[in-house]
Amino acid sequence: MKEVIIIGGGLVGGLTALLLAQGGVQAMVLDAAPILDESAVLKATNPRVLALSQATIHLLKKVNVWEKIARQMPYTGMQVWNKNGYGEINFGQESKTAPSAEQCLGSMVEPSILNLAIQQHMLMVVKDYRTQVKVIRVEKAVNCWIVKLADGTTLKTKLLIGADGANSFVREQAYIDVDVLDYKQAGLTCAIQTTQPHKHVARQIFLPTGPLAYLPMASLDQAQDGHWQSIVWTLPDDYAEEYANLDDAEFTALLTRESHHMLGEVVAATPRAKFPLKARAAQRYVTEGLALIGDAAHVIHPLAGQGVNIGCLDAAILCDVLLHDLERGVWANAQTLKRYEHQRKIQNEAMMHSMSAIGWLETSELFPVVWARNAGLKQVENQPLLKSRFMQQANGLAVLKNTRYAHSG
Ligand SMILES: Cc1cc2nc3c(=O)[nH]c(=O)nc-3n(C[C@H](O)[C@H](O)[C@H](O)COP(=O)(O)OP(=O)(O)OC[C@H]3O[C@@H](n4cnc5c(N)ncnc54)[C@H](O)[C@@H]3O)c2cc1C
Repeated sequence: MKEVIIIGGGLVGGLTALLLAQGGVQAMVLDAAPILDESAVLKATNPRVLALSQATIHLLKKVNVWEKIARQMPYTGMQVWNKNGYGEINFGQESKTAPSAEQCLGSMVEPSILNLAIQQHMLMVVKDYRTQVKVIRVEKAVNCWIVKLADGTTLKTKLLIGADGANSFVREQAYIDVDVLDYKQAGLTCAIQTTQPHKHVARQIFLPTGPLAYLPMASLDQAQDGHWQSIVWTLPDDYAEEYANLDDAEFTALLTRESHHMLGEVVAATPRAKFPLKARAAQRYVTEGLALIGDAAHVIHPLAGQGVNIGCLDAAILCDVLLHDLERGVWANAQTLKRYEHQRKIQNEAMMHSMSAIGWLETSELFPVVWARNAGLKQVENQPLLKSRFMQQANGLAVLKNTRYAHSG
């Protein structure tokens, strides 16, 4: 009988396994994806980046993954403005040179670069990490969960953690219902090169069709560093379809125009990817001997740029309560899991609801901006105290206070 099996070894599942290993608990990790080919990952530019919060970076440093990340682009400022002139809001400031750690609000990392670092570290630290695994059944038995694999293996575990993403098989097999809100929008993403440098500022413009974000990203060619961004353009489905099918010259010209030359001319774009936008909320995060974390528990509008960040906070809180109770001789009982659910579900849902309430055409790429928009860009811009309090909340570090992963800085 295993103490814990984690299904899903993405950032959230992987971080959980590494935090548990650090606390002396070896989890078995089962992932459907194959081992990544390092040279292929390093050679390719992803169409999108993840805006990692200070809390996520802090957790990745704790498990020694952060230093393995091959490329990333720190950002020191955020600028949001409205095409219709309702106002502008700025957080932090621009930085013409490589910023210091103190100046950074967070960092932009391509998902495949992040997954590569997590996977490489898991291969070293997690003793039973299996890739390309097909789980065909998960069922509850007395005091354990049974996991059946396509190769005929049957496993038993006292605790099962579902970290298997938005369409979680674990969630489905555990009969946990999920509320879904279809925004009928898509996020169009790709990497672009602009004539003007980003100066480490994440920018966002509200257009009548939805927000368009320029997120600074690291370039494959160092000579062009500072001029590449990943765009996330939230659009009604039909617009997204039309823009996805334009040729490159038409698309870059459209982007230059629609962005109001935000960073001069768009001179190059990589192939576009399109993500349908749906919010999902599991009705429960836990049941006897089972916990859901990350996108398996909640998928929020990517406009907030917080999806994986709140997933990493789930991982930290779950590991904290598990290890706390283990030190007292208790492993994953109902009260332990309930404490995890209590600490995370209300917070995550508050964020999801605020996103829906604002309305998707008026929401922003970055969570601080979503909040700011709620209060009115102009009023907020004039209240430095309010802005700084909000930034403290958005960086996620407050959630880690009073846990073993508290940030000492
Ligand atoms: C356009 C867009 C932009 C975004 N931007 C941001 C951003 O700026 N900041 C941010 O924080 N978030 C962002 N997000 C959200 C972020 O991508 C997700 O929240 C994050 O990837 C979820 O991580 P996860 O580990 O929970 O799930 P996933 O990354 O989906 O990982 C799930 C893992 O489970 C494995 N798996 C799945 N099913 C099975 C199975 N049956 N058996 C075994 N293994 C299985 C998969 O192989 C995978 O490794 C964005 C999302 C989109 C669509």
